[in-house]
Amino acid sequence: MDAEILRQYLEFYQDLGIKTLYRQPVGQVGQALPPANPVPMDLPPRQVGQALPPANPIPMELPSRQVGQAIPPANPTGDTLLKILEDIGDCHRCRLSEARNKIVFGVGNPQSPLVFVGEGPGADEDAQGIPFVGRAGQLLTQMIEGTAKKEGIELLRKDIYIANVVKCRPPENRTPEPDEMEICGQFLHRQLLAIRPKVICALGGTAARALTGHKEGVTKMRGKWFQWREIPVMVTYHPSYLLRPYNQDAKREAWEDLKKVLHYVYD
Ligand code: URA
Repeated sequence: MDAEILRQYLEFYQDLGIKTLYRQPVGQVGQALPPANPVPMDLPPRQVGQALPPANPIPMELPSRQVGQAIPPANPTGDTLLKILEDIGDCHRCRLSEARNKIVFGVGNPQSPLVFVGEGPGADEDAQGIPFVGRAGQLLTQMIEGTAKKEGIELLRKDIYIANVVKCRPPENRTPEPDEMEICGQFLHRQLLAIRPKVICALGGTAARALTGHKEGVTKMRGKWFQWREIPVMVTYHPSYLLRPYNQDAKREAWEDLKKVLHYVYD
C-alpha cells in the first residue's frame, strides 16, 4: 500500500479511537489461509471478569498523533462499502470465524439516511449471508414498513441499511465478547462513516453499548438520543426481545422509538 494512504488510514483509525489494528495472516494468492490460531492449544479456564487476551497476539502499534496537527477529514481515503468488503476478505481475525458459514456484511441502500445496527447474525443470517432475515428480521421489516406507512412515510426495508456489530454468528447465539466486538467493530465504524447516515438506530443492548460507550441496560437507554461521531443514535429494543410473548409494553415502546426516528429522518 502506498505510504501516504497507509498514513491516512492509521490516522483515520486513531480518530475512531482504535489503538490496535489486528493483522490477517498473509497467504499466497490461491492458497488457503491458515487457521487463525495454527497451534491448537487448550485454553486455560477463564476467570469470571478477567479480560480476554486479543485474538491476534501481535498487535500493530499506531504512531502517536502530534498535538496541534490538523485533524484530517473523517474519511480521508474515500472509503466505500466495496473497499471495506474487500478488506474483510475471508476474515479469520477472531475466533467467530471458526464456526461461521457466511460473513454477514450488511444490506440495503449505501446512501441511506438511516442505518439499523443489530448485535450479530443468527442461524438464518449465517446461512444466507444477509442480516435480519430470520424471525427477528421479519419483525424488524414489519416494524419499519408498517410504522412508516401508518405515519404517511413512503419507506421500504430496501431503502435503509442494516448491519451488525459482529459479522460472524457467535456460537449458540451467545453475546459477542469485547475483543470480538473491537476487532469487527473497526469495519462497522468504516461502514457507518462511508454511509454517513442522518441517524443510526441501535437495536438492543449490545449495539447500544458498542455505539454509545454507555454501560446501562437497554431499558434505561431506549427512547433516548445518543451520539456516535456526531451522528444521532436512537436506542431501542432488539426485535428478538420483542418476539417474546410477555413483552407487549416493550413492543409499544419500540414502536414509539421507531416513530421518533422516522420523523427525525424523513420529515
Ligand atoms: N439478530 C441480530 O442482531 N442481527 C441479525 O442479523 C439477526 C438477528
